[in-house]
Amino acid sequence: MELMEAIERYESEVRSYVRNFPTVFEKARGSYLYDIDGKAYLDFFAGASVLNYGHNHPELKKALIEYLAGDNITHSLDMASRARAEFLMTFHEKILKPRGLNHRVQFPGPTGANAVESALKIARKSKGRQKIIAFTNAFHGMTLGALSVTGNAFKRAGAGLSLTHSDPMPFDGYMGEGFDTIDYLDRVLDDGGSGVDQPAAVITETVQAEGGVNIASVAWLRNLQQLCRKHDMLLIVDDIQAGCGRTGKFFSFEEAEIDPDVITISKSLSGYGLPFSLTLVKPEYDIWEPGEHNGTFRGHNPAMVTAKRAIDLFWSDSTFSQEVTAKGDYIREALEKMASKYPETLGTVRGRGMLQAIEFMDKELAGAVSKKAFKLGLIIETAGPVDAVLKLMPPLTIAQADLDKGLQIIDRAIVEAMQELDIGAPQAAGQ
Ligand code: PLP
Repeated sequence: MELMEAIERYESEVRSYVRNFPTVFEKARGSYLYDIDGKAYLDFFAGASVLNYGHNHPELKKALIEYLAGDNITHSLDMASRARAEFLMTFHEKILKPRGLNHRVQFPGPTGANAVESALKIARKSKGRQKIIAFTNAFHGMTLGALSVTGNAFKRAGAGLSLTHSDPMPFDGYMGEGFDTIDYLDRVLDDGGSGVDQPAAVITETVQAEGGVNIASVAWLRNLQQLCRKHDMLLIVDDIQAGCGRTGKFFSFEEAEIDPDVITISKSLSGYGLPFSLTLVKPEYDIWEPGEHNGTFRGHNPAMVTAKRAIDLFWSDSTFSQEVTAKGDYIREALEKMASKYPETLGTVRGRGMLQAIEFMDKELAGAVSKKAFKLGLIIETAGPVDAVLKLMPPLTIAQADLDKGLQIIDRAIVEAMQELDIGAPQAAGQ
């Protein structure tokens, strides 16, 4: 049986990315994936920002292999281990302390959704209230609690029951220019006639990556924090996709200089693609009883080893962060150039750091561009409620030549997709 046939025959219909990128991958290194025929694919998806340091980073691999070869602890529930203690010390010294954060570190389970669930639970427990405010086009994961604060109707419908105990509110920019959505939220929370019960917390992303790369401005984030303090609600920042350097700083909210009560982080935390997530909780809200939020895989020691190494390598000083910001600006400029070439077809370019995107007027076009790019050897995905946004998330470590190559492929894929769909009359690629 062919390998792809085995996947199609035996795996559930729920599989998704394999449908967009239909080949069997075998190897990966740095910014490239290789399929079983040896074809190279430049990766502008990076495992949905799990692979910020590229595939199989040699230093992280070395740390992992040495750890495994030494018969060190792989699994220990949440019993103490050297790897756990060393990770906690490094995370405190190099990530939390320099940023003035004194959050307690909770290991909620391996996935992002695990972190979100525990964040919602601790907020409800702390405030003794049920409601959570979430935002339009938010994505927080696929478990019931996380889905209840997620916007996407298709994903919500998959729950098969009503998703309650949350109220959706308009994200920054959702109501168009000149409409301050924080003012609106303030009004409904102030007004006893609004029908909105007092919430325990607000959960937000700073950049809604899955939701179409919608950016919360610095002012909006600051005002949101102020609003949370005013109405006695916890501020939860879900930094699962935008964190770990994707937007330039380790945490995506650093630019706004806010101080969230609860932070969720995952994806590139292990740096090596190993499942690992954290819920960071201010000490005053760390009111769990021992074992009250449990889970078997709350202590994946190999992930802690690679996470510690990644922090030592990339976050001991600000060099890496500056490089990411510079590359992000470069991507932004290249996209703006493309957008100005095809003003009838390409809409806004938006993003922060190395999470950049371009919106297409015709929603079919973004998908067609992603397909063409795949044929040309580039992996890039679409985002947003109607998948009209092409989302660029290359590894943060990508070499300049590869970055240029990927951007050229996007330009060419746009031209070819426009020709195929008979949209506009573009110039030849690269002109
Ligand atoms: N929160 C955000 C912002 C995400 O982007 C994601 C996943 O894409 C999640 C939560 C859920 O993480 P996971 O898929 O690991 O459960």
